[in-house]
Amino acid sequence: MTMNRRQFLKNMGIGAAGAALPGVSMFAANEAMNPQDKSLFKLPELHCDVIVVGAGPAGIPAAVAAAREGAKVILLEEDMMPGGAPVDMYVTYMCGAPRVGVFIDMVRELNQKHSLSITPSSTFGQWAWDNKQHWWLPSSFAQVVYGIMKAEKNITLMCGSPVVDAVVETKGNRNRVTGVCVMRQGMLQKVSAPVTIDATGTGLLAAKAGCEYFYGSDARKDFNESIGLEKSDGRVQPCTMMYISQRTRSDAEFPRHIFKTGVLDHDQEKWVTQQTEEEFRKIDSGIYLHWGATVECTDTTDPVLVADAHRRAMKKLEPQFEALNRAGYVTHVAPKIGIRECRRIKGEYVLTVDDVLKGVMHDDKIADAWYSLDPWGMNVDPKIKNSVGPYGIPYRSLIPVNTEGLLTAGRIISGTRLAMSSYRVQPICATIGEAAGTAAAMAALQKTSVRNLDVRRLQNRLDEKGLFEWYRHVNMNVNNKPWKK
Ligand SMILES: Cc1cc2nc3c(=O)[nH]c(=O)nc-3n(C[C@H](O)[C@H](O)[C@H](O)COP(=O)(O)OP(=O)(O)OC[C@H]3O[C@@H](n4cnc5c(N)ncnc54)[C@H](O)[C@@H]3O)c2cc1C
Repeated sequence: MTMNRRQFLKNMGIGAAGAALPGVSMFAANEAMNPQDKSLFKLPELHCDVIVVGAGPAGIPAAVAAAREGAKVILLEEDMMPGGAPVDMYVTYMCGAPRVGVFIDMVRELNQKHSLSITPSSTFGQWAWDNKQHWWLPSSFAQVVYGIMKAEKNITLMCGSPVVDAVVETKGNRNRVTGVCVMRQGMLQKVSAPVTIDATGTGLLAAKAGCEYFYGSDARKDFNESIGLEKSDGRVQPCTMMYISQRTRSDAEFPRHIFKTGVLDHDQEKWVTQQTEEEFRKIDSGIYLHWGATVECTDTTDPVLVADAHRRAMKKLEPQFEALNRAGYVTHVAPKIGIRECRRIKGEYVLTVDDVLKGVMHDDKIADAWYSLDPWGMNVDPKIKNSVGPYGIPYRSLIPVNTEGLLTAGRIISGTRLAMSSYRVQPICATIGEAAGTAAAMAALQKTSVRNLDVRRLQNRLDEKGLFEWYRHVNMNVNNKPWKK
């Protein structure tokens, strides 16, 4: 049985009004369980200073940053392994910048210890344009994360621990998140902290806490944007099933003619499909990362529709798998279909595509960002798409409206769909995560709310950690700025 979004929302108790207005904010239902009901919780309650939900590109730096500020952190991950999209969706390739802080340390280690080339690249794309396309095995990401976690005494990482609800106190029209409910082996456990970070990539926790969110495309007029759709079509970016192919016979010839695009050798300058015959023969690494099959999913919060998208993508991949297999290559398919877009949690500021295109550096900037607009499935003039230079992520975009005790990090922060098509890439998500973790720890340890945090002090702290280094470097030292080409 397939369900459409309207039915799904009805079942969730959100109602048809929200369903009829894709792209506008909706209030989420929080009807699932009563976190005050002690009989539900079979495991003892845990306490810490900062909870981070989701151990992906945003959640990992968030947890590390908070821990390094001196906060006791619990990092909750629903998968049995940390890593997020690079591990469970095989998105093991980074786009955009800045590459700073915890993220660049991870990349450095990936390059030194897990490079797929015989000689690790000397530059590893630190400034984002060493003309190399770097990718690593998904398990390498997890290994690097485990190494970091071991070194951070203030972090307790709990895998296989899906957060199923938020613990919320309501006062007037304000909600205060005081913790989360975790499902561990069929038993519920409450985890409490003065500050929680939603780094789920889906915004599920914020939605459960009753935060307003956006879903699907916006109309230009919704946020006074200079480009975009006249009328929202409610669509999210399509999903892509990623996989890795690997040579098994020494005489195997990679059948690159069957791919139009989206195949990467290790550490090379061009996509496999763009290489000349001579270049290809010279490199032919024997291991390739594939942006395999792309399919639409009308509701990425609906498990039935996600499963159906997964099935359709696998079906679409069959001819590729057969051709590769015949040619002497095995395929390793990502455990999860790659979902690019889900909820965007409405914050004190909604970052727009014009902020991105004009390179606005807000007074409360907590992260630099740089990547083209990349709204899969939506036509945007390539000249406009690629004209994006550095811009700033404001702290207000991490603070959900009418909510205390909660910050968002990663691709779910408050922005329009077109703006998000740029900041959703891993280096930017990671920098936002590191800023969120720093802010959360400062607020928790100073016993103040995230909303009342002194933003200048936060910015100074982020500067000390080198988070604004990339922007300083490219502005001062690099004449050959890619966005000026
Ligand atoms: C197909 C595809 C291709 C992409 N290509 C690129 C690219 O080439 N380069 C690039 O830089 N970026 C790319 N991206 C974008 C990028 O990978 C993501 O936007 C980025 O990973 C988002 O980071 P995040 O930490 O916000 O979320 P995620 O990576 O989704 O991490 C969220 C984590 O939270 C966990 N989680 C979710 N819900 C719960 C819960 N209830 N309880 C506990 N844990 C939970 C998840 O298991 C996951 O580990 C691509 C994305 C996709 C899907």
